[in-house]
Amino acid sequence: MHEFSLLFLVMLGMSLALRFWLSQRQIRHVLAHREQVPDAFAGKISLAEHQKAADYTVTKTRFGRLPLFYDAGLLLLWTLGGGLDWLDQGIRALGYGEMVTGIVVLLGFALLSSLLDLPFSLYSTFVIEEKFGFNRTTAKTFVLDMLKGALLALVIGAPLLYVILWLMQQMGDMWWVYTWMVLTAFSLLMMWIYPTWIAPLFNKFEPLEDGATLSRIQALLARCGFSSNGVFVIDGSRRSSHGNAYFSGFGRNKRIVFYDTLLKMLDDNQLEAVLAHELGHFKKKHIVQGMLISFTTTFVGLAILAWLMKNDWFYHALGVSTPSTYMALLLFMMVSPVFTFMLGPLLSLFSRKNEFEADAFAAEQTDANNLITALVGLYRENASTLTPDPLYSAFYDSHPPAPVRIAHLQAQSR
Ligand SMILES: [Zn+2]
Repeated sequence: MHEFSLLFLVMLGMSLALRFWLSQRQIRHVLAHREQVPDAFAGKISLAEHQKAADYTVTKTRFGRLPLFYDAGLLLLWTLGGGLDWLDQGIRALGYGEMVTGIVVLLGFALLSSLLDLPFSLYSTFVIEEKFGFNRTTAKTFVLDMLKGALLALVIGAPLLYVILWLMQQMGDMWWVYTWMVLTAFSLLMMWIYPTWIAPLFNKFEPLEDGATLSRIQALLARCGFSSNGVFVIDGSRRSSHGNAYFSGFGRNKRIVFYDTLLKMLDDNQLEAVLAHELGHFKKKHIVQGMLISFTTTFVGLAILAWLMKNDWFYHALGVSTPSTYMALLLFMMVSPVFTFMLGPLLSLFSRKNEFEADAFAAEQTDANNLITALVGLYRENASTLTPDPLYSAFYDSHPPAPVRIAHLQAQSR
């Protein structure tokens, strides 16, 4: 067995063991605190609500272990088990050129893996979310979403893949620098067109109606010197009763989007506070930082891929007999998460630092107490656990644990 196959197996085993252990800790911790609402939330969250959040968290974490092992098993079958080689040789036998073969293999793989993942998204939507009363997705919406997603991947993804494979084959040793430029331009373009062209394929967008809520929001935007091309409400309630708010686009094409479910949960004071938090992410340059991080990691990733693909052992050690540009690309995308799983907690840490900064911004612009009551309302409605395991939370969570976040805000409200 090649050393690289061995390294791959060891890393995969380590990440599986770590994730399983963390899920074990999370379940135990949440269950241990199930019988009592934490002091900071006494009188705000009832015991029944707290217990529902605990049961929801435990159910999701328990279920999440299945795909953990399933995905690892599939990854082994695709690589060392010879699945990718089988797909590749089968399509090569059809006798198309290298480019067409590459695109058919990559799209074929994407189709097969989304079918293989289907049971889990079905179970999560129609069993778990349903059981806790969050699911609003109908079978029709589910199927339409899948078809639209597949069509988009085909219309946007296939031409992009074509360009990348062409660059890999034609541009010599420096292909990865050109590819990086194309990918960077492409992701900027996608951010630009997403709010106006893509998101409306999945949701209905309507401008927020004139009234007290809109004037409050506009006053806040003016106070913060923030220009956007509109405040919109989307029909998030078509899929789920979880509430959310976000910004999308950049430059003058920015949109502020509230889920209709969020508008139902919060009053105007609380909405203003939530929006101020989101504005904080912009003002503190978190969005730009996030983009820079992703461009940099893509640059480093492509440089590593450019080196790996020149070595035959990279293919052979991962179960692929015939080296090719598209196999290098596919193997790299499948296998790199196994080697970079320890970057996850670093990104989570960075994200939690940003959440504190955005909260601090909101506390300056509005009353911190409004954000506190808004967050408590969201924790309640979304059945988020108030008592996550500290290690689990440090590894995975993009937001600070509820009690920590609320305590920070309370310190700023005085
Ligand atoms: Zn945030």
